[in-house]
Amino acid sequence: MDDAKAIAPQELIEQARAQKAAQQEDEGTPLSVRIRQRVVASGGQYFSNDNIAEHIREGELDELQQEVEIRMRGVLESLVIDIENDHNTQDTARRVAKMFIREVFSGRYHAPPPVTEFPNAAKLNELMIVGPITMRSACAHHLCPIMGKVWVGVMPNEHSNLIGLSKYARLIDWVMSRPQIQEEAVAQLADLLQEKLRPDGLAVVLEAEHFCMHWRGVKDNQSKMVNSVMRGSFLNDSVLRREFLALMQTSAR
Ligand SMILES: [Zn+2]
Repeated sequence: MDDAKAIAPQELIEQARAQKAAQQEDEGTPLSVRIRQRVVASGGQYFSNDNIAEHIREGELDELQQEVEIRMRGVLESLVIDIENDHNTQDTARRVAKMFIREVFSGRYHAPPPVTEFPNAAKLNELMIVGPITMRSACAHHLCPIMGKVWVGVMPNEHSNLIGLSKYARLIDWVMSRPQIQEEAVAQLADLLQEKLRPDGLAVVLEAEHFCMHWRGVKDNQSKMVNSVMRGSFLNDSVLRREFLALMQTSAR
């Protein structure tokens, strides 16, 4: 037996050892750090309204939720709340972590909802309005709720796709279930609908109440914020734009 062959198995053992050590190191690193490293390695970003689902592996959301729960417990402790003995807050950290990961911010951690696009076989070329669709989000500045309504105007052409009515609500929910800024939320939604529908024109209007205005700050109960994005024929054709806005008003209340 020559030396090279004798050494080879030893090298394999060394390799296995190094691999195991790296794995153990990995296990000691919080999952959020490992996910961030994956996002950065892929050249992506992880802003509050970004979707990072492609960097999260099967089963990891449970672990991430546990990490958030531990951190939330720390926040409650820093607020000097007796989470050991106070029956109201004993389970709050777990509830909040679940609410963030699985519900109100789930649009960051889940892949887009499946949407089947149909070709515009009937060559529809009339203005179509969908709405009002209820939207719920949270402001990225205070994590306070944003509640509102969305209207979508679509001007199809023969190359456009059509999607089912309920799919608009699903896509809206996916974009809004992230800490958002209203102006960015409406632009993100317009980009997504543009990509799915490829219409001649697209209009998106979002009217919302910001609870960071009601609950804190100026404590103004009346103010609403309205944002719109107009693209293609809605941008070029003022008659079409006016028709959309007029029809939207009649469906508003
Ligand atoms: Zn705010």
